[in-house]
Amino acid sequence: MPRTLLGVAGFPVGHSRSPAMHNAALAELGLDWLYVPLPLPPERFVEAVRALPGSGFKGLNVTVPHKGSACTLAGTHSRAAKAIGAANTLTFHPEGEIEAENTDAGGLLDALAQPVVGLSALVLGAGGSARAAVWALLDAGAAEVSVWNRTAERAVALASDLGARHAARPRQADLLVNCTSVGLGGSVGAAEAQATLGLDGIEPPAIVVDLVYGLGPTPVAAWARAGGSRVVEGLEVLVRQGARSLELWTGLDAPIETMRRAAIGLPGERESARA
Ligand code: NAP
Repeated sequence: MPRTLLGVAGFPVGHSRSPAMHNAALAELGLDWLYVPLPLPPERFVEAVRALPGSGFKGLNVTVPHKGSACTLAGTHSRAAKAIGAANTLTFHPEGEIEAENTDAGGLLDALAQPVVGLSALVLGAGGSARAAVWALLDAGAAEVSVWNRTAERAVALASDLGARHAARPRQADLLVNCTSVGLGGSVGAAEAQATLGLDGIEPPAIVVDLVYGLGPTPVAAWARAGGSRVVEGLEVLVRQGARSLELWTGLDAPIETMRRAAIGLPGERESARA
């Protein structure tokens, strides 16, 4: 019987924490499966993914820049993947069906670990992760979701697509989710990030999620902590989206604590970590 395979496709994908996180979880679950990184350039993505089930793959995580293509190539879609128009998880069914899911959305809500019903939310950014965040928050009952982005037209389009509001500048809210890449790689400090994201004019909200993660505290998280916010870190969102993917593929409860420890890893492994 060939070994069951899982993987993460991206370009690049070399620094992904997903293989460490999923392989630790598979070992804990007693499954002799293997999760591998698959660096796939965009022009090879569709052809390569279609060949994976024949090589023993049961599922695939998908990261930048393939989430849109993953959604398009799938034959069936979850409610989230369909509405967001992007998938980070593909499941290869034995009869040949490819099913798309977006666990970034549910993973964000799991990481928040509190209801968002009735809360106002501000999402910074208008890329793939912002789309998932806006959809997840609205679907979970947030009273109002505003979207701010450096390139305003993208925020206007996203807001109009998903039923959110465009914010010409960041405004006060109960919950803030940073879905920009500001702070990635430790390149900017808290003050610079604050100015770049237009956060100077608002108080840190009660709850702040920073999707960015890496070695040490991120600048948005530092700004939020200094203001007394409850901070949800990007690594926790990574763990929770991964846990949802693993549960889809295995049908078993994901060992969250094991995944968390493996995602954090050793300092040298984390330097330029990404999903
Ligand atoms: P994306 O589609 O490339 O979008 C990037 C966003 O960042 C865009 O809105 C872009 O604005 C904005 N941006 C980039 N540089 C900026 C700057 N200097 N000032 C202001 N805005 C800037 O990326 P994504 O997939 O949404 O991911 C965004 C971040 O979330 C990345 O750091 C990624 O690693 C992280 N992420 C984490 C998880 C997790 O599980 N923790 C999951 C997904 C993503 P413009 O439109 O103006 O270019």
